[in-house]
Amino acid sequence: MANRVHAPGMPQRHGIIIISCYNSVFPEGNYGFSANPLWAKTFLPHPDIERQYMKRNVDLNEITDGRFYTVNDMVRADCQDCVGCSKCCHEMVDTIILDPLDIFRLTKTLNTNFDALLASGKTELNVVDGIVLPNLKLQEDTKRCAFLNDAGRCTVHSARPGFCRMFPLGRYYADRSFSYILQTKECPKARTKIKVARWLDTGLLPQNQKFVGEWHYFLEDLATALTDTDNETAHRVQLYLLHAFYRTEYRVPDEAGFYKEFDTRLAKAKTLLPSAP
Ligand code: SF4
Ligand code: SF4
Repeated sequence: MANRVHAPGMPQRHGIIIISCYNSVFPEGNYGFSANPLWAKTFLPHPDIERQYMKRNVDLNEITDGRFYTVNDMVRADCQDCVGCSKCCHEMVDTIILDPLDIFRLTKTLNTNFDALLASGKTELNVVDGIVLPNLKLQEDTKRCAFLNDAGRCTVHSARPGFCRMFPLGRYYADRSFSYILQTKECPKARTKIKVARWLDTGLLPQNQKFVGEWHYFLEDLATALTDTDNETAHRVQLYLLHAFYRTEYRVPDEAGFYKEFDTRLAKAKTLLPSAP
């Protein structure tokens, strides 16, 4: 079983990990799912399909303090509200990957939808471990996140993505579970200790942690299954995934509703999509 690290603002996927490139655009045609191929042609990243998988080993001790944290642990992560610093909102390339909860929060706060968010140029689609997923898009002129204002503050702070919430923490996935790691070289501020649960600044934490784990391992299983499928099936699966979990609006009033709706969509997706051997 490969272990994985997801940590924003730094090269991702350290430890014993899989790195993949899966550039694809879905040609027009009938995909068998209720997704719009013209939409895919507009937003997906590359005209050809190409799947590459690589493994590499990186010592976690080089980038962390060597510890694994639970939500109940104290960790030296508190940078006192980032006063005077916005380093991790610059040059983050495509590392801030957006999960369905991130899109729910952002679209609700900005009163928009997934397609409009993509069209705005503030997010984009890229390939992550064999799956096409959205991420915050680095602005070409300023080389920073579009949500950072001139004062160096986040304009979507209450709806900032999960990766932004946890930084300088990252997640370490192993054995169908995950824990937190502290990146020691990424945040320049003098930091004090804080409980991981408090630092995550996320309501409904038990539901949130369940969602994080389930989403990650669902994608990991799917990526594994896709390595044995033909390209046409892979196209259709990618379209379905984006449509079912991102493009289709979560018409619920709050995050409790989101988690419930996500569970329903996940259960359905597992019955429709290829599963890992
Ligand atoms: S690098 Fe650290 S202090 Fe600076 S914005 Fe990021 S988390 Fe805050
Ligand atoms: S969403 Fe906010 S916290 Fe995250 S990178 Fe953009 S400006 Fe920074």
